[in-house]
Amino acid sequence: MGRKRWRWSQLISWGQATWRLNSHGFFGQQHFRRYMRSTLACIAVFVGLCPSITSSQDANDRAHHIQNNVLGIDGHNDTVQRVVYENVDLGNRLSDGMIDIPRLHAGGVHVPFFALWVPTYYKGSEAVRRTLDLRDAMQRVLDKHPDQIELATSARDIERIVGQSKIAAVLTVEGGHQIANDLAVLRMYRRMGILSMTLTHFRSNDWADSSTGKPEHNGLTDFGKQVVHEMNSIGMIVDISHVSDKTFYDVLQVTSKPVIASHSSCRSMSDVPRNMTDDMLRALARNGGVVGVNFAASFLNQQDAEELKRKVSNENALEPNLAGTELDQFAAKEYFEDKGEFKVGHATVEDAAKCIDHIVKIAGIEHVGIGSDFDGITLVPYDLEDVSKIPNLTATLLNRGYSEDDIKKIMGENFLRVIREVVGN
Ligand SMILES: [Zn+2]
Repeated sequence: MGRKRWRWSQLISWGQATWRLNSHGFFGQQHFRRYMRSTLACIAVFVGLCPSITSSQDANDRAHHIQNNVLGIDGHNDTVQRVVYENVDLGNRLSDGMIDIPRLHAGGVHVPFFALWVPTYYKGSEAVRRTLDLRDAMQRVLDKHPDQIELATSARDIERIVGQSKIAAVLTVEGGHQIANDLAVLRMYRRMGILSMTLTHFRSNDWADSSTGKPEHNGLTDFGKQVVHEMNSIGMIVDISHVSDKTFYDVLQVTSKPVIASHSSCRSMSDVPRNMTDDMLRALARNGGVVGVNFAASFLNQQDAEELKRKVSNENALEPNLAGTELDQFAAKEYFEDKGEFKVGHATVEDAAKCIDHIVKIAGIEHVGIGSDFDGITLVPYDLEDVSKIPNLTATLLNRGYSEDDIKKIMGENFLRVIREVVGN
């Protein structure tokens, strides 16, 4: 937008000016012919490029228009960690990080899922305490900016809040260990406005195996199955990102409601256990669920995945035996160490579009969304570095032939359908 475009009249008057210069003997005859030849060749190349420049400009304009009008849902971010550790004010456009309220509006993401993530080395009641700390931090954001952001606890809430041009915040818990093996805690989380729970995080817990942890239970235990039943009955969405493949299939056996993979990508593009195989994508489609494509560069591009594998294998697997403030200090140290590693990977916005395309082919257009994982990832794709860049993804999808209706499904309608079906209106 606002980009200066050459017009034919400008080219013609430039040609006339050149001709006049020569008639005043400015160039020698031979030089002039060579000069005109190379200039005409440039014009021919330029004219040849014109349609593609114009079409990419059109796609950008249309993408911004679409993102301004979609009900944009992003299935996962880790921005609450920034509020806890850095006390950032999400009402301002921040100079670093990937999400704040102004950038959510710029990207057309009106319904971010804010994860209350607690590392797996918080055990039992320590994990519950930490979850309450995060819930409290999120409450401070809601209380500080009631004119800009509001807690959404139903599909109707989401539509009402977005209709008022505010951000509709959906809260989730990221890690089944955070219920401390107690269904009463799970029920109280729901009462606190938390609409979804990822069953595991980085490690297996007492009742479910993680994709990156030791397989301890061959999937889901009997108590794990009770957790899924309870979530179905209290209107909480089961999130299978992070779980092992076996846990995933066990969940699909017992759930009576659609599930989501809030932030996972395609294993056929990046072979990491956090991503979904084609068979899992087909099974998720049969369940009526949705996968939100994760924008971590290493989940979208094999070269970046190899770098992640090296990093994870070098990582200290230490699980500290600490409690209270000492445990919080340990977690804070880890947070600031990770934060220093932010960079752009080999992946680009094209890879994110390719992954969406792949899911559409395997599972269908009704079963894909976005789950950026922004503020929780350190390696981001080029042209998709923060939430304000989402229109670049929309433009890429337009260039790949997606219609406006298709894009609306991907950008939010599919997730909204699951919220309506599981959480209610
Ligand atoms: Zn995660």
